[in-house]
Amino acid sequence: WEKISITKNDKDEIAEMQLAYNHMIDRIDENMAKQTRFVSDASHELKTPLSVITSYAELLQRRGKERAEIFDEAVDAILSEAGRMKQLTGQMLMLAKNEMVENVRFQPVNITNLIRDVVRSLSMAYNRQIHLYEQTEITDMVSADEQKLYQAVYILVDNACKYSDKEINLSLEEKNGQLLISVQDFGDGLSEEDQQLIFDRFYRVDKARSRKAGGTGLGLAICKAIIEAHGGRITIDSKLKEGSTFTIEIPK
Ligand code: ADP
Repeated sequence: WEKISITKNDKDEIAEMQLAYNHMIDRIDENMAKQTRFVSDASHELKTPLSVITSYAELLQRRGKERAEIFDEAVDAILSEAGRMKQLTGQMLMLAKNEMVENVRFQPVNITNLIRDVVRSLSMAYNRQIHLYEQTEITDMVSADEQKLYQAVYILVDNACKYSDKEINLSLEEKNGQLLISVQDFGDGLSEEDQQLIFDRFYRVDKARSRKAGGTGLGLAICKAIIEAHGGRITIDSKLKEGSTFTIEIPK
């Protein structure tokens, strides 16, 4: 047997490895805790529509045959809650499968057209004035996943419509090789604390308001993941009672 003597260099290396190992364990613990929280939050979110469906189905069973208006009310409620569950499960699956990061298909995308499509669709849906400001001489084409980028911009403009009732400004500009898409609303705005939390899954400032507006609390988490998968970032500038501006920044 040969004795191994550990030199100072070896000791440094072992200490470094130990540090890296501990860091890895911390990351795994953190991810496990996140997953557990996601599963428990998701189950909780699904419980509400499920219990509404159950109550209305029971009402249908007891009195649905007696009165037409009870029948109509119950069927409407069941359909609307089932639609909500469908949206929620679709979004949860997307997040769980890491869909926004793993299946990104880059292709040349005309960003001006994409933004105009979002504006057209949402100004009609909400019957709202959405002003579009485009920097002149902008290079229209970017390399992006068209469907996902559409979804990210759609989420921000949809939120601006849901959480404010005035006009909305949307601007597109190019700065230092980055493309900036800003969505400005004049709604309630967000406190500093809420600005830190709104990108977390299921976080909502006002749960009842979000639910009433058809929200799930997952939109901004999806939006952030999409933009980060494009090598970009989202920033927020907001003041309570004045409004918010969300800006997507992606490399051209
Ligand atoms: P939701 O489906 O509830 O809209 P999001 O993840 O898109 O979920 O947003 C999270 C929360 O952030 C919302 O519930 C709302 O409280 C807040 N929020 C998002 N956008 C805005 C906005 N433009 N103005 C004020 N609050 C907003």
